[in-house]
Amino acid sequence: MPAAPQKSVTEKALTRLGLVRDIDLALHLPLRYEDETRVVKLADAREGDTVQIEAVVTASEVAYRPRRQLLVTVDDGTDTCSLRFFNFYPSQQKALAVGARIRARGELRGGFLGLTMMHPVCKSATAVLPEALTPVYPTVAGLAQPTLRRAIDAALKRVQLDETVPEGHEPARVWPLRRALDFLHHPTPDVSLPALEDRSHPAWRRLKAEELLAQQLSQFTARRERDALQAPRLPARAGGLHEQLIAALPFALTAAQRRVGEEIARDIATTRPMHRLLQGDVGSGKTIVAALAACLAIDSGWQCALMAPTEILAEQHFRKLVGWLEPLLAPLGRRVAWLTGTQKKKGRAAMLALIASGEAALVVGTHAVIQDQVQFERLGLAIIDEQHRFGVAQRLALRAKMAAAGSEPHLLMMSATPIPRTLAMSYYADLDVSTIDELPPGRTPVVTRVLADTRRDDVVARIRAQVEAGRQVYWVCPLIEESEAVDLVNATATHEQLSAALHDARMPQGGPVLVGLLHSRMPVAEKKAVMTLFEEGLIGVLVSTTVIEVGVDVPNASLMVIEHAERFGLSQLHQLRGRVGRGAAASACVLLYSTGDSGRLGETARERLRAMVETADGFEIARRDLEIRGPGEFLGARQSGAPLLRFADLATDVDLVEWARALAPEMLDSHAALAAAHIDRWLGGRAQYLKA
Ligand code: ADP
Ligand code: MG
Repeated sequence: MPAAPQKSVTEKALTRLGLVRDIDLALHLPLRYEDETRVVKLADAREGDTVQIEAVVTASEVAYRPRRQLLVTVDDGTDTCSLRFFNFYPSQQKALAVGARIRARGELRGGFLGLTMMHPVCKSATAVLPEALTPVYPTVAGLAQPTLRRAIDAALKRVQLDETVPEGHEPARVWPLRRALDFLHHPTPDVSLPALEDRSHPAWRRLKAEELLAQQLSQFTARRERDALQAPRLPARAGGLHEQLIAALPFALTAAQRRVGEEIARDIATTRPMHRLLQGDVGSGKTIVAALAACLAIDSGWQCALMAPTEILAEQHFRKLVGWLEPLLAPLGRRVAWLTGTQKKKGRAAMLALIASGEAALVVGTHAVIQDQVQFERLGLAIIDEQHRFGVAQRLALRAKMAAAGSEPHLLMMSATPIPRTLAMSYYADLDVSTIDELPPGRTPVVTRVLADTRRDDVVARIRAQVEAGRQVYWVCPLIEESEAVDLVNATATHEQLSAALHDARMPQGGPVLVGLLHSRMPVAEKKAVMTLFEEGLIGVLVSTTVIEVGVDVPNASLMVIEHAERFGLSQLHQLRGRVGRGAAASACVLLYSTGDSGRLGETARERLRAMVETADGFEIARRDLEIRGPGEFLGARQSGAPLLRFADLATDVDLVEWARALAPEMLDSHAALAAAHIDRWLGGRAQYLKA
């Protein structure tokens, strides 16, 4: 067998940069440029300028003051300049011999020797002056700029850059791709550097437009592929569980809940697989909407799966759904099943049997729900809570599992973090979105206070007042793992302090106030026990790391204290605050901050805390968060698998996003070959990830 061809060192380095195909190299754009097109007279240059001069060597010696160095003097007819090299090869010394005519490029400095350049880049003056700026590329160790430049130039010559945008559809103010790429690699020296830097130049706009078009094409393609699959019809049935559950609820649904419920019901009544995101602020009541959708599936004889990112949250859903649904399911001989990773073998086997036989109408759990051993009898609807907490791989696994059943199920994703408009148009373009934009009635707005943590005593007094009035309190600390490294007050210490400070406090019934502790290193069983005691009102104050962040629902809790609030992200703070204000009692959120040694808060931390005081609206919070942090945070797990936009910027390129969004479906309909060529050029084999 012939030996596999060996990759050269250069090829290996290029592969590490992800530069495999010619188009990859062509799209590897410079970080910045150097101007080697011009030669400047020394008399016209100023100290501090980076310039290229052309001059004759008039002296060259190896000096030893203060250490060994090559000291060369050159004269360009207008002035002289010293060139100094601390590290040099004999070949350099030879090239810089007296009488040689050279070009030197570097920063001019003053000094007692007169004008000086340290370690300038030198070449013979016989070399032709380049006509374009010299690109400087991002690179890795072992791949020198000249080697990378040669590889890119060669690829640029070879690569096919046929136009893929149909004629007459080019966005405004852009160049053809060939011209744009040639230019960005080798811009002429008269270019406006600011337009290159802020990427508003027509060449840049071309690349951004192309990239956004590829993204839209792949999303529309994924959507069409999905639309072609068959999902079960799950129409509403008179007298079914859906009607019964609405009648049994202790509250009336809000108008927003009814509206999104209808949007979902309309989707799943058809065979086109639903792919819908249900977004609604914390506490807006997404769980009941999910439960009602599950009823529709069950009413039509199908199973439903509900998956949550943490065990605590999954268990809370489980108990809620059992409470709502088991009284209605029991007469039908059906049940709600429960699956997690930490389950005992026997209990798990029993659950798997219920799921496989179809006796389990609804399955609630963590990602254990999508593991291989889980075989549904007929899965018709899958619901993912806090969908952004799941990774791309997990979503793909879920879809694969669903598809394996022969028919495609409907998919409902839920999130409390509203997606800003530009993201909804780009990364989530393949999703239908339903929004609950109203909170259930009777909620009192949460009053938010920002306090320096020197005022802890005041906060403890507030806590005492709350628990003595029969209310409950959360106290959230940053992650315990971090505490050792960055010296944060950790949850354990706070737990001890609060226990001591409240030892004589009494609940209205006269019992002592228990202070509970919940952190990520505790065994799951212990976490659950603490959570149950808190839900039952037996624990008055729950000290916790951010494990309580998602979805916990204890309406009697009326005070949320967040310690080191300056270390949390804005969305996270908003989610945490959403744990209170769920009942009728007036609720408050105290953001304790610590300035550490510097004595003052950083600018972004201050902006975040200000936003928390100024607004309680999840959409406004999400908008500000995007402003402060950029889109990466929102994309969460999607980021880890999908290529993020390299060139386009959703904040500045909305017009191009809109252009691409309008063109993509038309291209798929009327210019299928161009669309396929475009996707291949930009995404190669990576398109799959965008479908998750
Ligand atoms: P989230 O959208 O954050 O998941 P939940 O589904 O946990 O919110 O609902 C928050 C609380 O509001 C729960 O206790 C739930 O039972 C209650 N709830 C939901 N809908 C209504 C309603 N229409 N009227 C009154 N309470 C409601
Ligand atoms: Mg929830």
